[in-house]
Amino acid sequence: MSNITELFGSMVFNEQVMKERLPKETFKQLQRTMKNGKSLDINIANVVANAMKDWAIEKGVTHYTHWFQPMTGVTAEKHDSFISPDNNGKVIMEFSGKELVQGEPDASSFPSGGLRATFEARGYTAWDPTSYAFIKNNVLCIPTAFCSYGGHALDKKTPLLRSMEAINKQALRIIRLFGHDDVTSVKTTVGPEQEYFLVDKKYYEKRKDLIFTGRTLFGAKSPKGQEMEDHYFGTIKSRVQAYMKELNEELWKLGVLAKTEHNEVAPAQHELAPIFTTTNIATDHNQLTMELMQRIAKKHDLVCLIHEKPFAGVNGSGKHNNWSISTDTGINLLEPGDTPSENAQFLLFLCAVIKAVDEYQDMLRVSAASAGNDHRLGANEAPPAVVSMFLGSELTEILEAIEKDEAYDNKEKELMRIGVHVLPKFPKDTTDRNRTSPFAFTGNKFEFRMVGSSASISGPNIVLNTAVAEELKQFADILEKADDFEGELHSLIQKTIKEHKRIIFNGNGYDDAWIEEAERRGLLNLKTTPDALPYYVKEKNLKLFESHKVFSREEVFARYEIKMELYVKTLNIEALTMVDMVHKDILPVASRFAKMLTDTALAKQQLCTDINSSYEKDTVKAVSSLTASIFENVKILEDALSEAKAISDFEASAFFYRDRIFPAMTELRAVVDELETITDASMWPYPSYGELLFGII
Ligand code: ADP
Ligand code: MG
Repeated sequence: MSNITELFGSMVFNEQVMKERLPKETFKQLQRTMKNGKSLDINIANVVANAMKDWAIEKGVTHYTHWFQPMTGVTAEKHDSFISPDNNGKVIMEFSGKELVQGEPDASSFPSGGLRATFEARGYTAWDPTSYAFIKNNVLCIPTAFCSYGGHALDKKTPLLRSMEAINKQALRIIRLFGHDDVTSVKTTVGPEQEYFLVDKKYYEKRKDLIFTGRTLFGAKSPKGQEMEDHYFGTIKSRVQAYMKELNEELWKLGVLAKTEHNEVAPAQHELAPIFTTTNIATDHNQLTMELMQRIAKKHDLVCLIHEKPFAGVNGSGKHNNWSISTDTGINLLEPGDTPSENAQFLLFLCAVIKAVDEYQDMLRVSAASAGNDHRLGANEAPPAVVSMFLGSELTEILEAIEKDEAYDNKEKELMRIGVHVLPKFPKDTTDRNRTSPFAFTGNKFEFRMVGSSASISGPNIVLNTAVAEELKQFADILEKADDFEGELHSLIQKTIKEHKRIIFNGNGYDDAWIEEAERRGLLNLKTTPDALPYYVKEKNLKLFESHKVFSREEVFARYEIKMELYVKTLNIEALTMVDMVHKDILPVASRFAKMLTDTALAKQQLCTDINSSYEKDTVKAVSSLTASIFENVKILEDALSEAKAISDFEASAFFYRDRIFPAMTELRAVVDELETITDASMWPYPSYGELLFGII
């Protein structure tokens, strides 16, 4: 298929297909369910399931799966065929409404953080009709939520849908106050920009660290890095181009709005951005994008690395979560607008976000915390671990004028009154210059840049939706009671700016001076995952999630435990991989190289005593001393690993891995990398950084 419009969504059971294939009444009822989140009647489900099955079979599909997003971070599927026996010893192809709306996968091997008692190993999956079914790899996939039998969410989708409901409810209250009675629902929208690296498969296969952990655990810097800045937006190599072309086409078939692609700052780094869509769909699509990126790369003899920091010394990969709020009538609530009333509404929503980011900066940081992202946050060219907000100078000056009851525009000498005056226009392009801010206003949306490249965007959006819902609730509680709406609105906005402006920072976020300044302002600087995660279970955060029915307390505690354990498991696998590489490859090579040098030196001496063998002698000395140091350091790491085994408490364990295992890994790496720089390249057991980063030709 060459026609893109024909290609787009061809593997999706979308509105158009539904319209064509469903009886009018069924279509209408399904639409109602999708728009208003009502539960689906079983008779309708039967009709929908049958139409879905026929559609899928026409496309060569024989199996279906409930596709869900457990706490592992990747998606899960269990394939069942449509086959069912008839009475004559033959089979018919069947798919019932019950099979469509509910599944019962064995949940016992998915992380549950203690939520799922062993006697109730089963969980259930339930269709999320707001996200379309699609065909992937010849399997009909039904996007579902995944819960335990007791009703606890075991996945990333359920709480996301709950958080969307929370913000819908509170935003509608505010919108009503501004007289928009035509709006029936408010949804958050997201466009996640996805960064990734591509390496040649032949090099990848020779690196145990990439295979087991997704990042290089060793590797001396290559003579060239990213300093020339010649890769950023540079010409895309034809092999990469062919990969991107196929990736785009496969994504389009699935209805993913893949839009832009370009080379990123680091060599071998690229970015793919979709056009934004409703948050839960954007989340599904981002999972599909990551999956397809990796699968299609293999077809091109490439490997796609979505780890946050595959290479030391060059930029890591993030995921820019562009976020906004829209009404079903098509109004973007973070768009300043042209009239005093639109401006007032915009300022109120803006203030809700400012207050939310300040009060829940800890939760935003938690939502971006992972072992992989620890290498990135606060490191070279990445947003710092401190959460702050960039608004741009124009908007900040407007807020200052409102706060202090001063004139914004000196020429007019008029005080800014909300609901009376029109905001001065601030050109959109000047709002997007600051690339160092973790949370930037970019004209009509916010861009949360802390999120790691491999993370699901569910977590950050759950936090954003819920925190902003809470602030909107507080605002609505006040404004609904106000006699003088405009006056109350003005003082509410003024008060919010006054109390929360500490979170606004328009300067260079990569500057050390900012970290000191942030500390003076009382902002949190949670440098590592174990520093950040305990904030998950702070009383104010438990209250937030509980009161908006996004998470129960048990669910939060479970997630806290799962995330801490994931941190430990990640570091443990990395440490074990290092130990394995050192013992089986690196030390033996060091020894062989030393022997080669010694043999050569001896041979030279035998031949003639005055032949110079200073290279051999000096190098063998250096190699021997580094070998001894590696041997010593690997023992320190091994000892720490056995000490770690004895720790049963998950919190103590996470801190132990951070304070003892991680530094031991860093020390070990340093000496191994030094050895690499003086060892015969033909003997070194792994492809070099040069080959990995510049090897795609
Ligand atoms: P860049 O950041 O590269 O300059 P844009 O700012 O145009 O590019 O868009 C970046 C991402 O933000 C895209 O995925 C885009 O679809 C998304 N985006 C644009 N508007 C919105 C919105 N209202 N809500 C959510 N995401 C949006
Ligand atoms: Mg952007």
